Amino acid sequence: MTRISPMRPIAFATLAAGLGLGLGVAALPATAAAQGTLNLYCSVQIEWCQAAATNFQRDTGIRVNMTQRGSGETLAAIRAESQNPRGDVWFGGTGDPHLAAAEENLSQVYESPNNVHLQPWALTQWNQSGKRAVGVYAGAVGFGFNTELLARKTIAAPACWADLLEPRFKGEIQVANPNSSGTAYVIIATLVQLMGEEQGFDYLKKLHANINAYARSGTGPIKAVARGETGVSLSFVHDAVVEKNAGFPVSYATPCEGTGYEIGSMSILRGARNLTQARRFYDWALTEPAQRLGYEASKQLQTPSNKNAPLPPDAPDLSKIKLVEYDFAKYGRAAERRRLIERWDREVGSLP
Ligand code: PLP
Repeated sequence: MTRISPMRPIAFATLAAGLGLGLGVAALPATAAAQGTLNLYCSVQIEWCQAAATNFQRDTGIRVNMTQRGSGETLAAIRAESQNPRGDVWFGGTGDPHLAAAEENLSQVYESPNNVHLQPWALTQWNQSGKRAVGVYAGAVGFGFNTELLARKTIAAPACWADLLEPRFKGEIQVANPNSSGTAYVIIATLVQLMGEEQGFDYLKKLHANINAYARSGTGPIKAVARGETGVSLSFVHDAVVEKNAGFPVSYATPCEGTGYEIGSMSILRGARNLTQARRFYDWALTEPAQRLGYEASKQLQTPSNKNAPLPPDAPDLSKIKLVEYDFAKYGRAAERRRLIERWDREVGSLP
């Protein structure tokens, strides 16, 4: 019953033209066009990707071609293009696939002058990746739920991982597919670290009985919760607050046993054809004003990695959440990531 909706990368220029934004080269003044082009691969929510592309283009005159895809999908695209790289920078998405890309020499070493403004966890990611991936935000995994739907069905909201296996959640839970979604991989790695691998997979197999769909993107399940299509999602809790703030009857909980988290990352790709522009984007994305954009332009609620960028109002406070000591070095390793996803495909994704 594995279900992934078809991949739909969005070329920013095409989208902008469709929206009448007129951001193609022809619309730029000659001086701006002379600043060159940036091919941006983006793995945060589309609204944030668009805001980053528009603001960077406005600030620098560099024309941005943006393609938005999930973290796992982007890693697969970068691997497929390794002989003929098309992307320059990969912005956002969970940290593990950025580490895998670094290990596979699909990204390149870069030290930004703006590293001095970053939180220690962002630089830990940079050091662990051999200076190829830097942290741009962080966020914790948890349960999102539709309070009205659960009340109507008299289902008590989940508080612990153990609750999700109870029959009251049969057909009520949605999560993403780890082949395309970095979020889903963080969830698997979290369970393996919390329970041990055998028990973690035993849990995932039992959980399958309560899952109604494996979505393509990590944010699909919480959006389905907001629309009332499913009662519960496994996703990043900051995204549950985004839906609540948009007026949907959504709330969230972080698992009582503890939970995992992501260090959303950024990498310059090996073979980047527009290296000067790529470095400019990378430096820009680490500045305080650029990091404020996640919230101010697109209502996103991750924890920013620039120390001067404030935690957005209502954003989950990671220091108050019981977090596992997520072993990014181990679970970001390409072979470990591949092994766990293949095991999930064999033992969970293939179940009827
Ligand atoms: N969107 C948001 C808001 C995120 O925080 C993340 C994680 O980095 C993603 C998207 C990544 O999505 P996916 O799980 O589809 O790779």
